[in-house]
Parts: sequence; C-alpha cells; structure tokens
Amino acid sequence: MGKLLEEIITFNRSFVEQQKFEPYLTSKFPDKKFVILTCMDTRLIELLPASMNIKNGDVKMIKSAGGVVSTAFGGIMRSIIVAIYELGAEEVLVIGHYDCGMSSINPQKMKDKFLERGIEEETLTILEHSGLHIERWLRGFDDVSESIRSSVSLIRNHPLVPKIPVHGLVIDPATGRLDIVDEGYE
Ligand SMILES: [Zn+2]
Repeated sequence: MGKLLEEIITFNRSFVEQQKFEPYLTSKFPDKKFVILTCMDTRLIELLPASMNIKNGDVKMIKSAGGVVSTAFGGIMRSIIVAIYELGAEEVLVIGHYDCGMSSINPQKMKDKFLERGIEEETLTILEHSGLHIERWLRGFDDVSESIRSSVSLIRNHPLVPKIPVHGLVIDPATGRLDIVDEGYE
C-alpha cells in the first residue's frame, strides 16, 4: 500500500475503534431542505459549512471545479435533480468564491501539460476529431459572479427542474462572507 493511503487507513481504524463517528451520526435526508453546489477549493472544506451554520446531516453538498454546471445532462445536474426529487431538497444554492482557480485556468497551457505528463499528441487529436473541444471543455471563467449567474440560469431553466428557488452566491475564501449575486425568490 502507498504511504498516503496507509496513513489514512491507520488513522481511520482508530477513528472507528474509538467511536469518534458518534457526533456525526445522522440520516441521508437533509435536515435543512436545500442543496449546495460549490467549488472543490481546499479553503472551503470547513469554512463554508462553518460560515453558514451547516452541520453534518443538514444539506446535500455537491462540488465541482468552480462550482460550475457546465452541461445540462452531466453528473452535476443529475446530482442536483436527485437531491430535489429523491432527497427532499427544496431550494438550490450555487456558491462560487473569489480568487477561484478556475478563473486563471489556461486551457492551452493545460494541453501542454498533458503532453509533458506523457499523454500522446495523437490522443488529443483523436479526441478533437471525435467532437470534444478540449479547450472549450477545460475553459474556466473570467468573472465568478457571471459564472454563478450562468449556472443558476441553467438550473432554473432546466426542463427537469421544478419551480423552486435557485440562488447564486459568492463567498470570500478568507473570511467566509457571502455576497448574493442572484436571489431566487420571486
Ligand atoms: Zn474555486
């Protein structure tokens, strides 16, 4: 077993043995009936729930790079739909953050990194020929508020999403301060 995994499993065994899970026991249905889509940024792991008074069991939380819904029928949108119909979420909060890594992504440079890491040029060519616009697919955003509004709009207008409030917010990854960029109540 590799070192990282070994460390994790060793810690995990003692976590379970000492019943440290007890404070986290809850059900799979969110007590505060909403679902959050946010960014996978490391600074938000604990800060975002803490700054919103969210505990284990309170909400459904979906994460993606940038907190972006990029396609109407991808995994992120499917998760939102499952949260609404199967798990009792009654509102959706899309939360981006300032200083997001997705705002500085350079797809052309990432393609260079693919090649440096051993991906064949031919593979990229095949993907492009089969219809994947790699640069468009990897593209981030210039303005986080704009990106959040666009994801909110995609969710609100999705043919399988019922009439429920969908909100857009942006969080400060240092202080946890939330700014509303698009309120979903009519
Ligand atoms: Zn981010």
